[in-house]
Amino acid sequence: MIKFLDLHKINKPFETDFQLKFQQFLDKGWYILGNEVQQFEADFASFCNSKYCVGVGNGLDALVLIFKAYIELGYLQKGDEVIVPANTYIASILAVLQADLIPVLVEPKLETYNINPDLIEAKITSNTKAILPVHLYGQICEMDIIIEIALKHNLLIVEDAAQAHGASYSFQSQSQFTDKNLSTNELSVRADSRTQAFSFYPGKNLGCLGDGGAVVTNDLQLAETIKKLRNYGSEKKYYNELQGVNSRLDELQAAFLNIKLPFLIKENNTRRNIAKRFLNEINNPKIVLPFWDGTHNHVFHLFVIRTENRDELKSYLSSKGIETMIHYPIPPHKQRAMKDWNHLSFPITEKIHNEVLSLPLNGVLTDDEVSKIIKVLNGWTS
Ligand SMILES: *Cc1c(COP(=O)(O)O)cnc(C)c1O
Repeated sequence: MIKFLDLHKINKPFETDFQLKFQQFLDKGWYILGNEVQQFEADFASFCNSKYCVGVGNGLDALVLIFKAYIELGYLQKGDEVIVPANTYIASILAVLQADLIPVLVEPKLETYNINPDLIEAKITSNTKAILPVHLYGQICEMDIIIEIALKHNLLIVEDAAQAHGASYSFQSQSQFTDKNLSTNELSVRADSRTQAFSFYPGKNLGCLGDGGAVVTNDLQLAETIKKLRNYGSEKKYYNELQGVNSRLDELQAAFLNIKLPFLIKENNTRRNIAKRFLNEINNPKIVLPFWDGTHNHVFHLFVIRTENRDELKSYLSSKGIETMIHYPIPPHKQRAMKDWNHLSFPITEKIHNEVLSLPLNGVLTDDEVSKIIKVLNGWTS
């Protein structure tokens, strides 16, 4: 049986180090916001080529706190509209709602599954203040176009990078997005102040042994505000400057992440190499493979194929001992939680949700397992 994701196997190589760290943690007796969180924040900021990282409770909170901080700083107001992809994990949309902002859905491109930049401008109104690109499955959105739109309409960009640790986008021209015509109020759309939300949920490319998240940014004001907000709005104990929340990256989870972070590049390379094999060797005409032309650094959080007979393929693979998953079976606008949206129609999003299937892909999959998956897929005739 090839499991979709064997978390025990993924974390096994780190067990001795985890145990050692846990003993040190016990000996020290410091449980909240200590050296481990501090070290992780420094190292993860540098891993992301960014200036600041603030560890928070989870990926959802990372997004919510970015929006709340922009509200505190006066860049956003309650009721402002945020452009979000219709095709995403519901957390992206819930984050906008939890910050009292209004999500405006935009269809994806069928090829990339990511937001279609060509459809964004039609959804921009005088109330639009931000774009939330979600780098789904580990592939960065078309950021050059998105940044251009944001600059033109004076919008913030908040990236949901919960599936994209280590992914990057090769800009055609570095100088294209410098701050030539921008006042400091518009600082945040600059390419060099990229603000990203990460999740370290166990199944992500960098996962801890529980919940965890982080905000990464070059915007000092934003980082400082989120640092307060995550900790009851306080910098100095019992002095509360803002109405904050309790959403701190757990010290023990940070300790585990410090052990795993140095291996993230290797994990991503392994994933990319398996993805290359899938892309080169799966040749069943009934199966649509994910688009990747190699230009940008895709980290293949998920390898998502598409077929009209998705449910049939899923049970066929299961009968051959290959476990798969669906990311995701129901689009956000059709979820019961989003009753007001249920009547809306986003045909490309709906088609994707009806046809996608995620193959096993992670750092502990063996060559033989990869070969078996390819062989079984190529042998499928529906
Ligand atoms: C996992 C995920 C989140 C939320 O992260 P949590 O840590 O589970 O809160 C947000 N957006 C996307 C796209 C995700 O995949």
